[in-house]
Amino acid sequence: MRPISQISKKEVGQIKMVVFDVDGVLVPRGTKIKQVGQTTTLHTKVIAQKQIEQIKELNKKGFLINISSGRGLYMLQDMFREVLPFVSLTYENGSATWYKGKIYQHINSFEYLRKIFPKLKEIKNKNIKGFEPKEFIITIHCKKKVPAIERVVKKEGGLYTIWNGEAYDIGIKKRQTKALGLRHLLKIFKLKRANVMAIGDNYNDHELLRESGIPVSADKNRLWGKFHIPLKGKLLPADILMQKILSFLKQEKYFTSQH
Ligand SMILES: [Mg+2]
Repeated sequence: MRPISQISKKEVGQIKMVVFDVDGVLVPRGTKIKQVGQTTTLHTKVIAQKQIEQIKELNKKGFLINISSGRGLYMLQDMFREVLPFVSLTYENGSATWYKGKIYQHINSFEYLRKIFPKLKEIKNKNIKGFEPKEFIITIHCKKKVPAIERVVKKEGGLYTIWNGEAYDIGIKKRQTKALGLRHLLKIFKLKRANVMAIGDNYNDHELLRESGIPVSADKNRLWGKFHIPLKGKLLPADILMQKILSFLKQEKYFTSQH
């Protein structure tokens, strides 16, 4: 893995689309959730002004920007309201994509998850904080790992659990991943894998990074990438990445105006 600072102009020149994970990449890690009886409260973060400007700038330079998250669409629309005209949103681990008001559904998980849902609801454990409202996957927020959840999912068969440190995502094994979303995007935008740079920081980004031509890991301990962005530091990984790409474009402009 090379540090992102070593990416070459030629490599940047290949990129037509950048796929960003959300938590830990475009916004700091962590979703606050509280469930009391039938009431679920979610506290979300909104994209910072600096990243809004960077995304607009990248878009203006001709890059496609995809935001790919395990979160639900309604939350992503809320978080990225300011940049909606400039991005596509792939949500619930590659299950569907929103682009300019149109929805592309990539998988139908209804029959796979229908039976397990009540079984998961029955589990009583003080570490379970609540179910996050989702359409295509199941997400259960927990204070720490809950073995009973993993057992129920394993017994059902054909489904995965991904523990990301604050919640379990449950979906269709091997299929319902961010890579599925990317494969559909390649068709929608008529792109090749080699033209896609993807950045993620967690286990649910594993398939996405493997599917992309230029994978960037924002957490070396959890994910492999061709490039990595050091975890330490005050800047968000997406900030560092966009700064780097834009620095090449500004350079280019400088050279052409000089000669
Ligand atoms: Mg993440």
